[in-house]
Amino acid sequence: MFQEYCLVLATDSANYSPADPNYLVIAYLVAAILFILSLGGLSRHESARKGNLCGVLGILIAIGATLFVGVVPGSEAGDWIKPSILPAIWAAIVIGAGIGVFVAHRVQMTSMPQLVAILHSFVGLAAVLVGLSNQLDPTHISMPPIDVKEARMEEWIHKIEIFLGVFIGGITFTGSIVAFGKLDGRVSSKPLTIPGRHLFNLAMVLVCVGLGYWFLQTENPAENMWALYLMTAISFVVGAHLVLAIGGADMPVVVSMLNSYSGWAAAATGFMLKNDLLIITGALVGSSGAILSYIMCAAMNRSFISVILGGFGSDGGAAPAPASSGEKLSYNEMQAEEVAESLRDAKNVVIVPGYGMAVAQAQHPIREISEALKKNGTTTRFAIHPVAGRLPGHMNVLLAEARVPYDVVLEMDEINDDFPDTDVVLVVGANDIVNPSAETDPSSPIYGMPVLQAWKAAQVVILKRSMGTGYSGIDNPLFYNENSAMLFGDAKSSVDQILQKLKS
Ligand code: NDP
Repeated sequence: MFQEYCLVLATDSANYSPADPNYLVIAYLVAAILFILSLGGLSRHESARKGNLCGVLGILIAIGATLFVGVVPGSEAGDWIKPSILPAIWAAIVIGAGIGVFVAHRVQMTSMPQLVAILHSFVGLAAVLVGLSNQLDPTHISMPPIDVKEARMEEWIHKIEIFLGVFIGGITFTGSIVAFGKLDGRVSSKPLTIPGRHLFNLAMVLVCVGLGYWFLQTENPAENMWALYLMTAISFVVGAHLVLAIGGADMPVVVSMLNSYSGWAAAATGFMLKNDLLIITGALVGSSGAILSYIMCAAMNRSFISVILGGFGSDGGAAPAPASSGEKLSYNEMQAEEVAESLRDAKNVVIVPGYGMAVAQAQHPIREISEALKKNGTTTRFAIHPVAGRLPGHMNVLLAEARVPYDVVLEMDEINDDFPDTDVVLVVGANDIVNPSAETDPSSPIYGMPVLQAWKAAQVVILKRSMGTGYSGIDNPLFYNENSAMLFGDAKSSVDQILQKLKS
């Protein structure tokens, strides 16, 4: 049954013959299945490597099949890749792959979110460029070539695809660039809340709807292009403005939301190019990104609608607050030797990794500490907050890289109730995710965000370099509790010292 279905799907419906399968569609079907397996694999640490491999294989099959079928004269998709542009395609593949390998080798784990954001911007820009060139010269890149004499309805649908594709692509392009700037510290993480900004956004979208109507009605190519160019410029402004209006603490959701937008932009490009695989892949990325954004909003207690509409119905997302009220509070300090002693005496230890652990690359000695404590008979577990670090799953990746066993790495919901029974909590380069004001201070920008309740443990040791704030720019009352103590210094060197004392 499945075989028959694949054969029918893989065969040009007009000239159905089991002897003449459409290899391109078969390859696309295999690639699409590999992409689905890839997404499934990436959802769990244990299968992430296999998931990644499936994705790479799917992409290789998709590109290989497109190029191979496209250049073979008389092949079922028609030889729509003109031999004259083949060198340019190969050059683009070699240059793109070269840049990809170079960047992947150079990028630090701490800069991954920026990289992801800038990659999303490329997808958006591609959708804009494909849309514009499709309208300028429909015969050049449509696959298979569009028959310009086709029924008016089909022309309309194609125009809607172009218009929507360029609109979503434009928003994704500039939105991702602003997200890159915010995550990289080049643009202020403070939300830009200009008066009447929601009305401004609404007006922009309404103008785009009007331009879309004009675009559909007008036959004259020059007037058509004018409407498309103007809408493109407006979509750039809307994209940038939407992300500028979002506060620093909501950036994790913005990254996954832009991931979703880039998927829809790719799907729209697929419709423009009549490419089934792009439509499937775009829809997969679009929907998985939207689901992830929703889950993250739930984890941070934020309104999904508010975040995707640039803080609509709120004060613009969580804004950084003044670092402190000016009042000088006192705090306890500990040395590595004392921390090692506390750990040695403890029966239950929880390690909370945060962004600082990623910066210091302290995950390997931390794993060694957990092993040393285990040998000592101490139950040692890791507590992972959903937005710890600067990327969803950031801490899980680092701990997996350091070969920390998965069974001792627990999500926030699994471990939060255990803090009252914990002897020592080691907070390694984390700040916002253990900030009690998220539960106690309604005026705090992170109020309502679920946090790891480290303060409920008997003792909390915080490893960081100073009393400085975290990403949200707010002070953390946990540091001043009686049962808390600071161990100042780079997380890697502090963890190394504790390890040394534990071993000696
Ligand atoms: P935070 O940014 O709140 O805190 C990190 C702490 O690490 C800082 O206070 C800093 O203090 C310390 N630190 C930095 N470098 C070092 C170092 N070399 N050694 C020791 N300590 C160091 O991180 P959290 O993980 O606690 O919270 C994540 C925050 O990031 C949340 O606000 C979240 O919303 C936001 N975010 C999360 C994203 C995600 O997808 N996960 C994406 C974007 C933002 P000091 O300078 O004193 O050392």
